[in-house]
Amino acid sequence: MGQDAGTRAVVLGGSIAGLFAARVLADAYDEVLIVDRDKLVGVKGVRRFCPQSHQANGLLARGVQVMEELFPGLTQEMVDYGVPTGDLSGSCRWYARGNRLKQQHAGLTTLGVVRPLFEWFIRERVQQFPNVTFVEEHDILGLTTTADKSQVTGARVQKRGTDHDEVIEADLVVDATGRGSRTPVWLEQLGYEKPFEERKKIDLGYVTQHFRLRKGANGFQNDVAINQIAHAAVPRGNVFFLVEDGKVELTTYGILGDHPPTDYDGLMAWLKSLPAKDVYNTLRYADPVDKAMPFKFPTTLRRHYHTLRRFPEGLLVTGDAVTTFNPVYAQGMSVAALCALVLRQHLHSGAAPVPQDYFRDLATDAIDQAWEMTNQIDLSLPGVEGERPLKVKVGNWFLKRVQIAATRDGAITAEYFKTAGLVQKPEALMKPGFALKVLWKSLFGPAKESREPYTFPVAEGVEPAFGETAELPKAA
Ligand SMILES: Cc1cc2nc3c(=O)[nH]c(=O)nc-3n(C[C@H](O)[C@H](O)[C@H](O)COP(=O)(O)OP(=O)(O)OC[C@H]3O[C@@H](n4cnc5c(N)ncnc54)[C@H](O)[C@@H]3O)c2cc1C
Repeated sequence: MGQDAGTRAVVLGGSIAGLFAARVLADAYDEVLIVDRDKLVGVKGVRRFCPQSHQANGLLARGVQVMEELFPGLTQEMVDYGVPTGDLSGSCRWYARGNRLKQQHAGLTTLGVVRPLFEWFIRERVQQFPNVTFVEEHDILGLTTTADKSQVTGARVQKRGTDHDEVIEADLVVDATGRGSRTPVWLEQLGYEKPFEERKKIDLGYVTQHFRLRKGANGFQNDVAINQIAHAAVPRGNVFFLVEDGKVELTTYGILGDHPPTDYDGLMAWLKSLPAKDVYNTLRYADPVDKAMPFKFPTTLRRHYHTLRRFPEGLLVTGDAVTTFNPVYAQGMSVAALCALVLRQHLHSGAAPVPQDYFRDLATDAIDQAWEMTNQIDLSLPGVEGERPLKVKVGNWFLKRVQIAATRDGAITAEYFKTAGLVQKPEALMKPGFALKVLWKSLFGPAKESREPYTFPVAEGVEPAFGETAELPKAA
C-alpha cells in the first residue's frame, strides 16, 4: 500500500463481513481495528448482537472458494476439527417441488458448520494478524470528519456500560455493521444524499433447532444434508444438515406470513406438511437438544450506494450494510467474502480507495448476480409484490424445467448448483446445448423414482421419538 492510504483502518462491526474486510485491510494498513458492541475474541456460541447466528447460515460454494483464497487451508482445518463436509450437488439430498434431484458430485464443497463456530474459525485466523486489534464491547456512535465534511477521519465509540465516548482516528473507516447500518443517516447529517433503498417484502419466518439422531436410525445415510426448496404452490422449505457425528441442525421456513411453529408437536406437524416426508421421518428418530429459535425477516434490502454522485472520502460500506438477501438462498456471507475481494482490488491500486469506484465495482462484481437471483426467485411466488418483466418470467419458467430435468440427470443438478452457489453465471444454464438438454429431459415431467418416498433402515428395537410405530419407514 502506498503511503497515501495512511496507516490505520477501522472496521465497524466484527461479524462475517467485518472479519473478511479486516483480513484484506491487514495486508494494506499498518494497523486495523475492529470495533463491535459484542464480546468477540474466543466466543464460540451465539452472540447477543448477531441474533441470526441461531439460524442455519450455510456458505455457498463461491464463498468457500473465496474463504480459501483469503485463509488458505481453513476448509481442511474445519474438517480436522470434525466439521462434516460434502459436495453440494453430490452428497446433499435436494428436493424441488417435492421431487428428489438426482445427485452428482460437482466439486462444490459444502461445510456442515453452525454459524457461531464458522465465525469463530474466521475470527481465529484474523486474530493471527499481529496488526489487527479487536475493540470489543464498544458501541459505535458516529463518524468524525474534517471541518468541510469531505473526509471521514474516524469513528466515535463508547465502551458499553460507561458514559464517556472516545474517537478512534483512522485513514479509512469500513462500515460492516449489518442491516441496521447508520451510514445512510450519517450521510444525511453530513449533508450528503442518502442511498436509494430497494426492498422486497417476503415476510419470511425461520425456526431452527438442533437434534441428536437415535442410534440405529439415520435418515441421512451417506448424505450430509436433506434440503427442500420452497416454491409457489408450497412456500415452505427447510435445510437440515449434519453438524457433528449424530447431531443435526434443522432450519425450516415459510414465506409470506406462513411461519413455522416453535413447539415440538407443531413443528413436527409442519414438517409432515412439507412435500417430501424425508425430513419428518428422519426427525421422528431424533431427540431435540435445545429450544426451537424463531427469526422473522420482513424484507430484502439493497442500498444503492453505487448511484450516489457525492460520497465522503475515507468511508466505505460492506456486507449486509449494503445488501441483505433473502436468507433462504444463503448468499449473504458469500457476498460478504466477495465484497472483501473488491475491497482488496481497490487497496491494491496503491492509493486510498475512491468510494464511488469501490461502490461501482461492489455492485457489478459482488452483488448484482446474487441480487438478481434473489429477486427473480422471490418473484416466482405470486404473493411477492413487484414487476415481473419478461426476463424474470422466462427465467422462472426455465428454472422450473431445470428442477424437473435434474430429477433425471445428475449433470443438470451439478450445473444448477454451480449457478445457485455463485460459482458460475446463470447464463451458463442458457447455453444452447445445455438448455436443449434441460427442455428435452423435462418434457415428460419429473422422474417416477424422484417422487417415491425415501426409505432408510431402522434397527430392531429402535423406537421413534414421535408418531406411531406403524408409520416406521421401512428399509429399502
Ligand atoms: C435468518 C437468517 C439466515 C441467514 N442464513 C444465511 C445463510 O444460510 N448463508 C449466508 O451466507 N448468509 C445467511 N444470512 C446472512 C448472513 O447472516 C449475513 O450476510 C452475514 O452475517 C454477514 O453480515 P454482516 O457481517 O454484514 O452483518 P452482521 O452479521 O449483521 O453483523 C453486524 C455486526 O455489527 C455489530 N454492530 C452493529 N451495530 C453496531 C453498533 N452501533 N455498535 C457496535 N457494533 C455494532 C454487531 O454486533 C454485529 O457483530 C442469514 C441471515 C439471516 C437473518
